[in-house]
Amino acid sequence: MEAKYTLDEWIKNKRKRKCPWCGVVGLYWHWEDGKRNYRLCKWCGIMQNVGEPLQQLTLVGCKKCGSSGIWTTTPETKRCWRCDGKMTIMKNPKDDL
Ligand SMILES: [Zn+2]
Ligand SMILES: [Zn+2]
Repeated sequence: MEAKYTLDEWIKNKRKRKCPWCGVVGLYWHWEDGKRNYRLCKWCGIMQNVGEPLQQLTLVGCKKCGSSGIWTTTPETKRCWRCDGKMTIMKNPKDDL
């Protein structure tokens, strides 16, 4: 597992749908949001920005208002974007497929 991910690799692997970490197909994507390019698996929560080391994200959701599906590196301190409630760590999204 390489420490850094280059933009060349990102472009080359852009269409791949199989997660190189957990092997799940269809929940692994390459994304760009205008500021950065990154890859993220929505099953195991591994994320990597181009040029940066891997990060482990956790899926959190809000039980109070029912919003869900935010991946974060800080699940303990994350507040709900909708009602400002405390976020709860969710099960893996694949359980719902
Ligand atoms: Zn994965
Ligand atoms: Zn909420």
